[in-house]
Amino acid sequence: MPESVSRFVKMGVAVHVQHGAGENAAFPDALYEKAGAQIVADAPSLARDCDVLLCVGRPSDDLLALLRKGTTLVGFFNPLGDPAYLKRLAERDVTALAVESIPRITRAQPMDALSSQSNIAGYKAVLLAASALPRFFPMLTTAAGTIPPAKVFVIGAGVAGLQAIATARRLGAVVSGYDARPVVKEQVQSLGASFVEFDLGQAEGAGGYAKELTPEQLEKQQRAMAETIAKNDVVITTAAVPGRRAPLIVTEAAVKAMQPGSVIVDLAAETGGNCALTKIGETAVTENGVTIIGTLNLPSTMPYDASRLYSRNLFALLSPFIKDGALVLDPNDDIVKGSCVVRDGKVAGSS
Ligand code: NAD
Repeated sequence: MPESVSRFVKMGVAVHVQHGAGENAAFPDALYEKAGAQIVADAPSLARDCDVLLCVGRPSDDLLALLRKGTTLVGFFNPLGDPAYLKRLAERDVTALAVESIPRITRAQPMDALSSQSNIAGYKAVLLAASALPRFFPMLTTAAGTIPPAKVFVIGAGVAGLQAIATARRLGAVVSGYDARPVVKEQVQSLGASFVEFDLGQAEGAGGYAKELTPEQLEKQQRAMAETIAKNDVVITTAAVPGRRAPLIVTEAAVKAMQPGSVIVDLAAETGGNCALTKIGETAVTENGVTIIGTLNLPSTMPYDASRLYSRNLFALLSPFIKDGALVLDPNDDIVKGSCVVRDGKVAGSS
């Protein structure tokens, strides 16, 4: 984003931007030039001639082949989900910082790209649900009688789930939330939603993330869950376990027990889906009239703010390590240690 370009330029960094990079986010090239960037014709020209390459998604292998030895890459590299890509990065003899691996410590909050993008996904999921639902979210008292509010159930109360709860509440729905980590109960309630509880035993792992449930815990959860799901008009699923397939929580039977016209938005479609009937990347209507939205990459549907937040995340990550216009990473810094998944041609943790 141009605002981050000018901040980097003020630090003595020469910023080159791929032609058209911001166009779909409502940022034409001219704004980057005004902020002090040089526009470069295409990605290959950028890759051949940079010390640090900031990306959103992963560069293709063709692009990787053009990088100079010692280049630093920063972006979403899916390090837990696709370790083979890290090996390909290492073969190019580069250094890579994966934003997914930034440790979730207080100091790193402004850099937390997972959170900034999850926030957008949670918000947008509710808007998609509201526009697909053939009824109002809020309660309405009209001359033609009272319309009861819609009931929304949010499964997984991490960053996306909490934003979905807050957004659905703002639209006037009656909202409930559930998470395998009972510790989030107060956060759910503080947003004006009720917390649904099933007794599954301890499910919180290291670093505040969820631990994978045992098969017995999953089965018990699915049965109790189906009853709750059937009572709701909208179900938004966000349950994830880093590096694993998303847990299957909404079974086929649970979908069949829902009322016609109900809507499911499966934010976990990115990692396989929380609902057994989700068609990844698509919106489908089941035989019993339930709309299931499995759209991928929801942040990309709000490119202006997704880009604004992501570019601020990257500036916060890199600016402490810029000395005299160059990036000098401190290998002893906790944030560098956590996020540096490939260093000088070696995958972190490998010998
Ligand atoms: P995530 O996207 O990895 O997972 C989403 C949610 O799904 C989590 O709340 C998880 O508990 C839940 N989940 C997993 N399996 C489930 C199951 N079978 N049934 C129901 N729910 C299930 O999580 P996230 O949004 O990235 O956040 C993870 C944690 O990290 C949260 O506690 C969040 O508040 C915390 N966090 C901390 C910081 C920080 O301190 N800097 C920043 C961001 C997030």
